Amino acid sequence: MNWDWLDADLQRLRDEDLWRAVRTIRPLPDGWCEVDGGRVRNLSSNDYLNLAHDPRVMEAAKEAIDDAGVGAGASALVSGRSPWHERLEETICEFEGTEAAVLFSSGYAANVGTISALVSDQDVVFCDRLNHASLIDGCRMSGARLRVYRHDRLEVLERDLKKKSTGGRRWIVTDSVFSMDGDLAPLVDLCEMADRYDARLVVDEAHGTGVYGSSGRGVCEYFGVEDRVAVRIGTLSKAIGTLGGFVACSSSVRDWLWHSARTQVFSTALPPAVCAAAVKSFGLIQSEPERRERLMSLSGKFRELMDGRFSAEGEGPIVSIQVEQPDLTQQLAADLLDDGFLVGSIRPPTVPYGTSRLRICMTAACEANEVERLAGLLSQ
Ligand SMILES: *Cc1c(COP(=O)(O)O)cnc(C)c1O
Repeated sequence: MNWDWLDADLQRLRDEDLWRAVRTIRPLPDGWCEVDGGRVRNLSSNDYLNLAHDPRVMEAAKEAIDDAGVGAGASALVSGRSPWHERLEETICEFEGTEAAVLFSSGYAANVGTISALVSDQDVVFCDRLNHASLIDGCRMSGARLRVYRHDRLEVLERDLKKKSTGGRRWIVTDSVFSMDGDLAPLVDLCEMADRYDARLVVDEAHGTGVYGSSGRGVCEYFGVEDRVAVRIGTLSKAIGTLGGFVACSSSVRDWLWHSARTQVFSTALPPAVCAAAVKSFGLIQSEPERRERLMSLSGKFRELMDGRFSAEGEGPIVSIQVEQPDLTQQLAADLLDDGFLVGSIRPPTVPYGTSRLRICMTAACEANEVERLAGLLSQ
């Protein structure tokens, strides 16, 4: 088989400094990891609250493995839904204060499956330009007419919303925390517009759950708009420290997703041990608010030391530092690794051309003196 055409494209990626070397990183407890034999602080992980290695979460997973084995064996509808899945759904309902919850094998699958199931090809979807790829893919798959807006120019969205509706429903779809810049969606304004122009708001809380809001429910809680948002989608793979996606919703939406979200219907259920671990994590998020307080205080300290030298205002753990050129971004990330910090080197196509950046994800596992040292290195 001849793959010359791929090899030519791959060479082009190398020439443009867009080549992605896939590294092996050994995770270690307390937010550390081992890269090329050295122990470094991992600031490229989304395990914000240091729960992935919490002994109690690990123990819950081990117990479930002893009881239920490793794989779920089938999709939830066929025979894959176990008491551990049911327990996790109940935990999410309680945590989120919603009637129902649906589990997916990842946050990606939750977004694609939910949006493509709820939105019809008669509808119009207003989609933020910086939304996560999985939201964009879900919107595309729905067949709806897609209108792209920018959350820093809501007047353009409003102008579009004012236009006469074509008969289908209207949806506004947004990340709650924009994953590449770390800024928050203007959810209060978006709710106003959704009310005023008869649209439904869908919010992806991937980076919000466990981190924002006084109970850790996310940015919708932080802005006090939970009841005004039609559907909240979350992931279990970031602050929860495990794997999987979920939708917190009404029981009608749950029933509909069970029947028609293809990424749920046609995909094997999560391993029971993952469900057991996630239940434990949600418990710790509720009983140990000091984790997110510490995360926010370290993030605030880092932002203060960086004194505005990042891409977008905010107050959370994702801090992006614009470098622009991909080769320089790679070099700076490699230098930081030598200095003991693993940070994200983010280049196109993940972000637009000319906006390559270092992306730092703070973790509650970090110590204040490390934050100072990192800010010092970045200021050189
Ligand atoms: C990470 C992420 C997802 C995907 O979640 P996974 O569980 O990793 O598949 C979806 N949306 C946003 C905004 C994300 O950052």
